[in-house]
Amino acid sequence: MQLTGNLLIGQESVFGSNGSIKAVNASTGAAIEPAFGGATLADLDRACALAWAAFDIYRETAPEARATFLETIAQNILDVGDDLIERCMIESGLPRARLEGERGRTVGQLRMFADVVRNGDFLGVRIDPAQPERKPLPRVDLRLRHIGVGPVAVFGASNFPLAFSVAGGDTASALAAGCPVIVKAHSAHPGTAELVGRAVQKAVKDCGMPEGTFSLLFDSGRDVGQGLVKDNRIKAAGFTGSRGGGTALMKLAAARPEPIPVYAEMSSINPVLLFPSALKNRAEGIAKAFVQSLVLGAGQFCTNPGLVLAVDGPDLDKFIEAASAALAETAAQTMLTPGICKTYQSAVARAAGQADVATAARGVEAKGENQGQSALFVTTAEAFRKSHELQEEIFGASSLVVRCPDLATMRELIESLEGQLTSALHIDEADHADARSFLPALERRTGRILVNGFGTGVEVGHAMVHGGPYPSTADGRSTSVGSLAINRFLRPVSYQDLPDALLPDALKTDNPLGLNRRIDGKLQLAK
Ligand code: NAP
Repeated sequence: MQLTGNLLIGQESVFGSNGSIKAVNASTGAAIEPAFGGATLADLDRACALAWAAFDIYRETAPEARATFLETIAQNILDVGDDLIERCMIESGLPRARLEGERGRTVGQLRMFADVVRNGDFLGVRIDPAQPERKPLPRVDLRLRHIGVGPVAVFGASNFPLAFSVAGGDTASALAAGCPVIVKAHSAHPGTAELVGRAVQKAVKDCGMPEGTFSLLFDSGRDVGQGLVKDNRIKAAGFTGSRGGGTALMKLAAARPEPIPVYAEMSSINPVLLFPSALKNRAEGIAKAFVQSLVLGAGQFCTNPGLVLAVDGPDLDKFIEAASAALAETAAQTMLTPGICKTYQSAVARAAGQADVATAARGVEAKGENQGQSALFVTTAEAFRKSHELQEEIFGASSLVVRCPDLATMRELIESLEGQLTSALHIDEADHADARSFLPALERRTGRILVNGFGTGVEVGHAMVHGGPYPSTADGRSTSVGSLAINRFLRPVSYQDLPDALLPDALKTDNPLGLNRRIDGKLQLAK
């Protein structure tokens, strides 16, 4: 499929006149064709105007129509075929198998949200029927449903060019909620963005959705991304990326006359806790699995295990030895962008130069352009406590083992950590009592707690939480993965004493949509 470099504004396809960007071949660093025209502020205004005009129509589309729309997007993405995978491989440096898997996840998410929309539980219908006879005062008729918050801005993520970009989890959940979406493409993969964007644009047409349901913009600077978050027709934003970028957008959103939520996923070091009995019995096995998780995708996962805490002693030595041996054999891998690779290399060099930090192992030296060499460091609890820098995310295949004098120190270090997406406990049965005593602190700091595994490999399901307290995300009350992600883009509205004829179908007395409802607080399943 020929790339045009065009912006997709509603059903239009136009070349932006505000400068241009080119993708870079991640493996060679060479710029690749075509150029993608940057949007002007007038383009941004048109996309916002169309999205706003679409909102009231799109959010009232029947569940079946909206579900079919999401499924059509999924099919249209598959129909792009191998062109999508090939372009994405060049732009991201990620291997074919990973991207084919990610495409599967992307279409799976869209189909999951189609099911969520058909099921209708996301509407959260509650009805407190009128009680005209109630004394001393009659009770009014109150009915509640959720509606979409309004047009949503989505920032494509560099590390998930398919599953968290143009038609990824943020877009799928916002569209499912009834919100038009304007995507600001990530500058690292504009070709991938255009191919997916055209699949969504076509689905809008195929399904007769209002034109402004979807737009895709390229930004040659920062004005369009920032302008989107500042525009009063945008009512929420989804973002995955750096802490600097996420907090900049959060500040802009909070400073608006009408502040809006920015669901930003930013940084997490995902502590791994090795408990004594597990370490004694399985140090080598855990070490091998840990290294596999650490180097997966060149370590460019938000759930990458960047920190290991354990009680010092011969069992921890065994773990470090085995992990070092495994890591020393790991090949250097192409990273997503030259900028991300440079940031990784300088962060690793800084960690290596810190007082009381020893380099336990480095992976095979990088030979090609833009490759990250994995790294494992070891330090003391004392040094970790003192250095804020050691507690910061290094985006790439680097991790730090902290030798703790005892379990109490491990717990104390957990208490000092910032909010995390995941924490992983490695335990045997003899560790259960100790592990239990860590749970309250982990619950306060983490979105997902897991046992005898690692946070990489995020299941897309109904009970998944991919979120956590700041700075892992901007708002720990939400998840960006799984069906609950739809809640970020919903708002409850209550209707008091409206005649049936004026009520939305979801709230009509004879339940034409066949929804499960809470009547007077009691769940009543649809027949
Ligand atoms: P990024 O620099 O934060 O960029 C993400 C997106 O936000 C891009 O579309 C970018 O625009 C835009 N953006 C960034 N700062 C902005 C600002 N101040 N105003 C308006 N828009 C802004 O993230 P990245 O490019 O993906 O990677 C950079 C670093 O982020 C990595 O080295 C890593 O440290 C971190 N990162 C973390 C995660 C995670 O999951 N924890 C994931 C990805 C990246 P452009 O496309 O024009 O740059």
